[in-house]
Amino acid sequence: MTREELFYETKSVYEKADEAKVKAIYDFAEGYKTYLSASRTERLAVREAVKLAESRGFRAWEPGEPVKPGDKIYMVNRGKAMMLAVIGKNSLEEGIRLAAAHVDNPRLDLKQHPLYEDSEMAFFKTHYYGGIKKFYWVATPLAIVGTVVRKDGTVLDVSLGLEPGEPRFVITDLLIHLSGDQMKKTAADFIPGESLNVLLGTRPDAEAGSDRVKLAVMKLLNEKYGIIEADLLSSELCVVPADEVVDLGLDRSLVGGFGHDDRVCAYAELMAILDTEQPERTAVCLFADKEEVGSVGVTGMNSQNFEYFMEGLCKALGGDLRRCFHNSLCLSADVCNAYDPNFPETADKRNNARMNHGTGIIKFTGSRGKSGSNDASAELVGRVRRMLDEADVAWQMGELGKVDQGGGGTVASITAMRDIDTIDAGVPVLNMHAPFEVIAKADLYMTYRAMYTLFNTTC
Ligand code: MN
Ligand code: MN
Repeated sequence: MTREELFYETKSVYEKADEAKVKAIYDFAEGYKTYLSASRTERLAVREAVKLAESRGFRAWEPGEPVKPGDKIYMVNRGKAMMLAVIGKNSLEEGIRLAAAHVDNPRLDLKQHPLYEDSEMAFFKTHYYGGIKKFYWVATPLAIVGTVVRKDGTVLDVSLGLEPGEPRFVITDLLIHLSGDQMKKTAADFIPGESLNVLLGTRPDAEAGSDRVKLAVMKLLNEKYGIIEADLLSSELCVVPADEVVDLGLDRSLVGGFGHDDRVCAYAELMAILDTEQPERTAVCLFADKEEVGSVGVTGMNSQNFEYFMEGLCKALGGDLRRCFHNSLCLSADVCNAYDPNFPETADKRNNARMNHGTGIIKFTGSRGKSGSNDASAELVGRVRRMLDEADVAWQMGELGKVDQGGGGTVASITAMRDIDTIDAGVPVLNMHAPFEVIAKADLYMTYRAMYTLFNTTC
């Protein structure tokens, strides 16, 4: 055998892409950029997905309602998570094809008593959500989006600072001239969590009394949304970067934006299910919430809401839920880290996913000896390898950093807990969890193709 036959190496997607393929890659990213711009929170990511799904013939469905092969349905879980399905020809007992991404991502949430005034400046206090480097969030333009529920139950959408021309917000940092002590601290400490306070205004109200700047800000919020301070108790307001989603690089091969982890995989699997017609096995696309804080809560992957949906399908179509799970195949569609030559000491170059080498398959995640990892079996890797190769999908095997360096997890261990064969597959990301993350258009496209292959082949 020749050296080429004996050795294994992956190549950049562009090494063998013709002009039509390059165009397909770049065109696909345009839809994603629009989706990502509109989806700065899990709620918005779900809402945008519903719009796209309905425009492609999907209908809202609840357990108890009839459903038949070929139907395209979706169910939203409390506005923050969702499942879409295209019902297959075969029995559910043959298993489903599941793609599971998450649509929450690291950010700052407002506390429940957020509004205060200090030194004639009004602020919102925050509590960060998920794994962030706190220093990213100072001295950069921010927006505030989310939901406020008034005492009478009225639910209001709040969006401040995203529209062109709208005022934005900032968390201030200390000037370098006075940062002698700050600069000696570690990066984990030099911006304390309690100092991540969003500056809201400085102009006092004309009315006499204390807290006149706070009063002026509250009056503006009341004018815009009809809310009072107590309504913030029952709110979920998120502080997110105000920057737009943009092409990066002279060749425009990359996309920069907030929240690629994991909306890039969510979009890939969403497009894949929207393009799926009459599959053999029922295709299910899942958007989970709360992955960044441990997949907990009623909208996280640990929630029984997924069983509620699947049991409803099994009842409507006939079939045992446990047998269905046992025969199912899941791609846990989550991002992995792309190799960054600026930080070679943190990765094992031979085992790390690379930009443009296609969707990253991750056999195991976890940290400190694969702890907490799903660790897919060799048999499952073999099956997925065959499936993707037969469909000519560019893929690569990745690993989250060097041994002993750290690590992370995904929803894979939670779908596997349900007796579903699961492996991680997703888009490699540079500066993951930064407010401005980077992905390659070629990897996004190949992840879409991987999800489409999962839904539409019987391998
Ligand atoms: Mn993450
Ligand atoms: Mn993720």
